Amino acid sequence: MSITSFNPPVRTLMGPGPSDVHPRVTGAMARPTIGHLDPAFVGMMDEVKQMLQYAFKTQNQLTIPVSAPGSAGMETTFMNLLERGDKAIVCQNGVFGGRMKENVERCGATPIMVEVEWGKPVDPQKAEDALKANPDAKLLAFVHAETSTGARSDADILCKLAHDHDTLALVDAVTSLGGSELKVDEWGIDAIYSGTQKCLSCTPGISPVSFSDRAVEVITSRNTKVQSWFLDTNLVMGYWGPNAKRAYHHTAPVNALYALHESLVMLQEEGLENAWARHYNNHLALRAGLEAMGLSFIVDEAHRLPQLNSVTIPDGIDEAAVRSRLLNEFNLEIGAGLGSLAGKVWRIGLMGHSSRAENIFLCLSSLEAVLSEMGADINTGAALEAAQSAMK
Ligand SMILES: *Cc1c(COP(=O)(O)O)cnc(C)c1O
Repeated sequence: MSITSFNPPVRTLMGPGPSDVHPRVTGAMARPTIGHLDPAFVGMMDEVKQMLQYAFKTQNQLTIPVSAPGSAGMETTFMNLLERGDKAIVCQNGVFGGRMKENVERCGATPIMVEVEWGKPVDPQKAEDALKANPDAKLLAFVHAETSTGARSDADILCKLAHDHDTLALVDAVTSLGGSELKVDEWGIDAIYSGTQKCLSCTPGISPVSFSDRAVEVITSRNTKVQSWFLDTNLVMGYWGPNAKRAYHHTAPVNALYALHESLVMLQEEGLENAWARHYNNHLALRAGLEAMGLSFIVDEAHRLPQLNSVTIPDGIDEAAVRSRLLNEFNLEIGAGLGSLAGKVWRIGLMGHSSRAENIFLCLSSLEAVLSEMGADINTGAALEAAQSAMK
């Protein structure tokens, strides 16, 4: 037997990411590879940076795509800002805050944890207490859109608290960028990272990051070298920097950057605020359908992410069997619960190109079909109509 070309099945991706990639983006990715120092490529790099500033709502000069997925963006922010012996306050209300803690420890710094119940937003009072108790903390880190639960924290308030205590604000926006309100300059975010595969309708593998001038000053005046050579922004800026000579640091993922460029062009065409509104309106339609079926949301309405819907599983239903039937019979992927929510919820993503009407109807009708066949205690025949009437 010989191995032949890989042809993946065509799926509808409604999990926690990756989400559906727009055909314009995969089309861009298939264009001819050119050198990463080719003047034509360098011109495109400038446009990518400019469009990332638009998406982040920032004037930050140091706004670049890191050549690796969201986790590398996380490492880029922590590794560059922290030095051995520093202290960092980390708010945890889900899986990704736990990874932030790991990052702080691996920098040789001390994490001060602010623990919040999963499914709830970060409590500003608890964050403020930690800031007061640790006036020597260098930064306050939190996840804006906790993909493991579907909760949105108030980044505006948390950043203001950090600044009131003369501390940098570091924000995970992997799931918020392009999907819901995010204002880097207005909120005073000092370091932020995201990913291409969630609300940007793009392929996985790139992590947009941005640093404020205040953060850049911290990075350029470090006493020690950044422990990661690859993620050291002092070196990366020789290639991506505003007045850089475009010196070789690493080979940029040329075709993946074509993809990001195209997805950002599409975001500009749609308009950032319109993209936020689309995610919200589609959430309302999905919610109406799921609730009509009898499922309920685990996050309070006020703190719910439109792009990540965590819902309860009907009693007595094998949740993994439901997901595998959706995948095998309907080519539909939805997400399982993570960490303390494993086995307790499904996570239904409406991110980027996945956030559209046809996906909502596919999800509601196939979920209803599978659940009713498995004998679940749900209301049948109401979900599609409820979604339809909630649709804008
Ligand atoms: C997906 C995700 C990450 C990790 O991104 P990868 O691209 O998988 O490395 C980090 N934080 C949050 C909130 C995420 O949703």
